[in-house]
Amino acid sequence: MPIYQYKCSNCGKSFERMQSLSEDSIKDCPYCSGKGSVHKVYGDVPVIFHGSGYYCTDHPHSSCDSCPHHEGGN
Ligand SMILES: [Zn+2]
Repeated sequence: MPIYQYKCSNCGKSFERMQSLSEDSIKDCPYCSGKGSVHKVYGDVPVIFHGSGYYCTDHPHSSCDSCPHHEGGN
């Protein structure tokens, strides 16, 4: 199984997880329990998902109250 590196944008810690391709990406940080603040890192190059709050595009704007990254972008 491939090992993926993740990094938390909330507390800044990085960690690795062995996951199969069919497994969902980790989104919640095990260190600070930050919901949705973890993103995958490929090698030395961080993957940028359109900046913070990228997943807010996945659902109606009115649902963004539950998004920890939705930092008053209105
Ligand atoms: Zn964290």
